Amino acid sequence: MRASLGFKTILICVTFFSSLFSLSAFARPQIEISYARPLSSHGPVVLRDGHELAIIKLVLGKPYLKRSSAHKKAYEALVLSADFFEQQFGLKSFDGKNSGIKATVGVGRIALMFPTLKKLKQNAVWATQEERFIFGAGGEFMAGFEDELDVVAHEYTHAVIQHSSQIPLWGESGALVEHFADLFGEMAEQLYRPTQKKWLIGEDILTPATKKNYSEMESRPIHALRDMLNPGDGFDRQPSHYSQVPFEFLDDCVPAIDNDACGVHVMNGIPNRAAALIISQLGWEKVKWIYFNLMTERLKSSYLGHEPKFADYSRELLQLCSENLEAQDCDVVLAALKDVGLR
Ligand SMILES: [Zn+2]
Repeated sequence: MRASLGFKTILICVTFFSSLFSLSAFARPQIEISYARPLSSHGPVVLRDGHELAIIKLVLGKPYLKRSSAHKKAYEALVLSADFFEQQFGLKSFDGKNSGIKATVGVGRIALMFPTLKKLKQNAVWATQEERFIFGAGGEFMAGFEDELDVVAHEYTHAVIQHSSQIPLWGESGALVEHFADLFGEMAEQLYRPTQKKWLIGEDILTPATKKNYSEMESRPIHALRDMLNPGDGFDRQPSHYSQVPFEFLDDCVPAIDNDACGVHVMNGIPNRAAALIISQLGWEKVKWIYFNLMTERLKSSYLGHEPKFADYSRELLQLCSENLEAQDCDVVLAALKDVGLR
């Protein structure tokens, strides 16, 4: 199904490019949100040069100009994403230096002649070179990226990783990046915008027509882009056990656009499920620093001596558990890793 859609790099974020007035006391990073030009004389380089059409600066404590609902929603979700990392981990902005946050909304509204933009139209991206969040204008299958907190916080987590561990974005390493982005994105949503159903990623960005049509086509209910607890139930069906990873994504795989950088949005379902099992039983408070440490420190290539693989992830997770939690808690962690074939 993924291949037939032609936009499978959902939430891909990076690789190929280069309301809320809080009562809390900390100073937030400045957030600047701009609106993409419909067409740019620079062609697809709209990310860098085409966002000056309507730039507004949003500074904490001052009323902001209401430009469009996309502006407002992007602002609110970025505020919550930044608050999540500051309140949970003391991280000031995505880089720990309270740097300003930049985003562009409405990308790809009229983009038929630019394949790059056409792809971005139904996507959300952290553009690594531009250091800017990109939210597509939405289309036939998906819309409202800037409104869904787990999606926005997913992208924000990419920025955190870029400024900490710099885990590579391909193969098993990239699947771990996508796993962390889903996990921290979902936890931001569970804390700040709790919904009835936990562990669903992008439950609101699939249009009602997409949910209906694809549910009928596949004879199963489709509620979200990804389902962390039941990876096989998402819009893109993912393996939930390491033994189910398609052979094409393993050792000899060469990362490319058309193979999702060796299945990074396929394989992330495996650690996603393990984390959902663990947190469902132990609670977020108990394990949050373990996951943060794992993401920002323990899986650095410079720490390991090689790019992180799933085996490194499971070993370091258990090691951090034994350093910080009780033996019975680590039994829960071990059981979850066994459930998904990572132990
Ligand atoms: Zn991502």
